[in-house]
Amino acid sequence: MYEYKEELYEMARQLKQFSKIGVISHVRPDGDAIGSQVGVCLWLKANGIDFAAHNDDALPEDISWIDASVGIRSLDQNALESCDALLFVDGNAPKRFGKHMAWFENTTKPSFVIDHHPDPFDGYTYMVSVPEAASTAELIYGLYEQTDLSMLTVEAATAIYTGILTDTGGFRFSSVGARIHQIVADLISRADLKVSEIYQRVFDNRKIKHLALIGRALNQLRLDENTGIATMAIYRKDLEETGCRYDELDGLTQFPLSLQEARIAIIFTQFEDRIKISFRSKDEFNVNTLARNFDGGGHQKASGAWYEGSDMEKALRDVTEAARRQMAQA
Ligand code: 5GP
Ligand code: MN
Repeated sequence: MYEYKEELYEMARQLKQFSKIGVISHVRPDGDAIGSQVGVCLWLKANGIDFAAHNDDALPEDISWIDASVGIRSLDQNALESCDALLFVDGNAPKRFGKHMAWFENTTKPSFVIDHHPDPFDGYTYMVSVPEAASTAELIYGLYEQTDLSMLTVEAATAIYTGILTDTGGFRFSSVGARIHQIVADLISRADLKVSEIYQRVFDNRKIKHLALIGRALNQLRLDENTGIATMAIYRKDLEETGCRYDELDGLTQFPLSLQEARIAIIFTQFEDRIKISFRSKDEFNVNTLARNFDGGGHQKASGAWYEGSDMEKALRDVTEAARRQMAQA
């Protein structure tokens, strides 16, 4: 079990020195990005610190409701210039935060990170980086814990709970331990959370077009029984013809991964000039290492990358070949 109490205490102490902090979460934000961002903005507010929350990408519909009490805006460098410091959540490097990455990397403003991705960029004023954590949101809970848990409002507890819920795939992943259940038990009792309502808001909110896309994707599901590599290809026309946006694809990885024989799942999504690759692992196979071959990264069991060019067959061949090579080396 990890603790990181002293680091979070120190983070709280340092953040309290500023009067206005810009809070940023990563591109294509997910439940943990937004849950952590909202949770930490409400922590700043509870401590009398002003904040400006900005992201490069818009909030996905299924989690935008978490933001009601904060009001995250689109990324605006001028607005961030007015802040005394910057706080990045749920991402390990400037490039994860979008189009102002060069400014983020070179700014003279004090910059802070709370995150759980391995191998973080080493250029921040102070960072709490906990790869053992299943979510960034649980670290935000730790920030409250090191200050005053009675500052947790219902909105903050809901945001943190949702971050944990989504980054653990509904408490399914191997990263889930006793500490998470203790945090969640405290959030539920403290804020009287209605967990079934939150679950339904996040997961049971599909439209028929999403299931149409899942149908097409399942048609493209392939399994190599010798290696346990399962792949799924989503073509640009699948998105166009079903009317689905790319950020509505979350959760598709669970289908190839649910195959009994699957060790890893690789999902390819075609764009005009590049292909997004999502990697997931069911065992000790490290997809972070695999993603790095393609200039991507992430976690040991969930990573992503971009493949240059839109040739799906070539991408399928190159990436599965790299996966096979890595398996052979192990
Ligand atoms: P997803 O497959 O859901 O897009 O991403 C899974 C995880 O991989 C994310 O939580 C994120 O940590 C990481 N990730 C996704 N895309 C990229 C990328 O292009 N570069 C890097 N470094 N990490 C990524
Ligand atoms: Mn996360």
